[in-house]
Amino acid sequence: MRRLLAAVLCAAMIMGLSACGQEDGASAEFYAMDTNMSVTAYGGDAQNAVDAVQDALYSLDLHLSRTRMDSAISRLNAGASLPAENTDISQLITTAIEYSDATDGAFDITVAPLVSAWGFTTDHYQIPTQKELDGLLPHVGSSHILFGEERAITLDAGTKIDLGGIAKGYASDLCEQILFKHGVTSAMVYLGGNIYVRGSKPDGTAWRVGVQNPKNAAGFVGVLSLTDGYAITSGGYQRYFEENGKRYHHILDPATGYPAESGLTSVTVVTPANGDEHGDRPGHGTMCDAFSTALFVMGEEKAVELWRSGAYDFQLVLVTENGRVLVTDGLADKFEQEDGSGYAYETISRNPA
Ligand code: AMP
Ligand code: MG
Repeated sequence: MRRLLAAVLCAAMIMGLSACGQEDGASAEFYAMDTNMSVTAYGGDAQNAVDAVQDALYSLDLHLSRTRMDSAISRLNAGASLPAENTDISQLITTAIEYSDATDGAFDITVAPLVSAWGFTTDHYQIPTQKELDGLLPHVGSSHILFGEERAITLDAGTKIDLGGIAKGYASDLCEQILFKHGVTSAMVYLGGNIYVRGSKPDGTAWRVGVQNPKNAAGFVGVLSLTDGYAITSGGYQRYFEENGKRYHHILDPATGYPAESGLTSVTVVTPANGDEHGDRPGHGTMCDAFSTALFVMGEEKAVELWRSGAYDFQLVLVTENGRVLVTDGLADKFEQEDGSGYAYETISRNPA
């Protein structure tokens, strides 16, 4: 995804460069939240908007990181209480629990000890023993997150949280609000696989977002044409290690403690933007991020079932291990198949045939 999106971004950047000569365009590339990020904005106070986005993302990183010892999340994981005045983090944790409930626990921020056991926190990868996993699994589950007076949060002993599956989506929600406040009319925000686009491109055409071929970092399975929306992808190919010829990736099944093996190789969740009046609350970006991780764990059947239930407003591009690309019908006029990708394409409709 990274290389392909980089290609898409490059196009955006090239446009950005030429538009930077005009007064209303600005862009920045930087590293935060453990990933490469970029913002390109046009209209309004674009330069200040880009600066404000960058500041907000650095600050969010300081609060939410599990590897920075002084972050609010690290303190919570070390046994401290998260004071009620941390309303933004508390709202995010509450939202994460809602998505955990909506996905029967497939999305669960209390996977933190499991993520550490596999070495994904430090990049010192290892396969944990079954005994080790059996010792950690009882501490996994949203019921171990405790809400006290005024919703101050504490964790049961042995439970830790990891917002890696939702934080960048939330960050993209904040970006939408910041860009709106600065009067930006057209923008693309890329937060390592999480994309938010505002308006259309300055030339009036839709932004084009590539969906990476999980089997080939240099190829797409297709391209989405988006205006005012989010597109967030989770895939086993994004972070993994190999041992004895087997691949172990970073999206874990909270029920088993093992990397999820659901038959999906990537999940892209697409939603409309939140709208200008949404404010700083977690919104569609957060939902896309939680669901992309969760549906990867749940697999094709349950993912389609959740989509068909209509309980949440999202569309999907699912790529399966057995060579199929499934696109929900709400994306029919937005998804362009990649000729020669070798995949078979199917449209999923609301009512099963
Ligand atoms: P994403 O790239 O959004 O799918 O998030 C993957 C990251 O979320 C991992 O690197 C872990 O930090 C964390 N994670 C892994 N498995 C889960 C899960 N089942 N639920 C919630 N977070 C998870
Ligand atoms: Mg996610």
